[in-house]
Amino acid sequence: AAAPAPAAKEELLVGTEPSFAPFEFPEKDSKEFTGFDMDLIRAIAKEMGYKKCTIKNMGFDALIPAINAGNIDVSIAGFSITEERKKQVIFSQPYYKSGLAFVVRKDVNDVKKFEDLKGKTIAVQLGTTGALYGEKLKDKGSVVKTFNTSDLACMELKNKGADAVISDLPVLQYFLKNGGSEYAKLAGEPLTAEDYGIVISKKNPELAKGIDKALDALKKNGTYDKLYEKWFGS
Ligand code: GLN
Repeated sequence: AAAPAPAAKEELLVGTEPSFAPFEFPEKDSKEFTGFDMDLIRAIAKEMGYKKCTIKNMGFDALIPAINAGNIDVSIAGFSITEERKKQVIFSQPYYKSGLAFVVRKDVNDVKKFEDLKGKTIAVQLGTTGALYGEKLKDKGSVVKTFNTSDLACMELKNKGADAVISDLPVLQYFLKNGGSEYAKLAGEPLTAEDYGIVISKKNPELAKGIDKALDALKKNGTYDKLYEKWFGS
């Protein structure tokens, strides 16, 4: 007998945490999310033949559990590929080179390098590599305050509830460029190099293969470069 026809690919259900501009953030005067990740996953869904790409807003720390519970198909949320996460999920091929850095309040003048954050108050986002990195300071007399979103961590700095924010460099750069430089500045050197990957359930290796194939196609046909230029070009 002939093999059954593959099920029609109706909808790709995507989870994200949209406080992470320029990767995912609310579009002005719209209910949609925009950003590099959002454009990329919509292009991937189209390339794979999905009729619809639906994007759900969730807490960052809820994304991997939602994938493993089957509530969403994939997550794209500026996720750094880490060994710890690879125990729980599959990552696509890397699609963006990122890494951690930190900003301090403009009036903080005694922080030139990461070690100078000892004794300071640092804001981070729950469940992120930045939050993990911040833990290195905990036995140095620093206070690490954890927030549900990256926006809230930056707000704490603005409100003088924190001296520094540890987050991903491109996100901090975007924040500084869009008003943040009035009260914050980059300090020290970048802390890590990290690659972003799209997150897929270990129960769905076929989907992971399909995403990698689509990424290859978009890199080859110029779509990836066009989106990169749109969001990160000068
Ligand atoms: N890249 C960081 C991580 O994977 C931060 C991601 C985010 O806050 N959306 O933990």
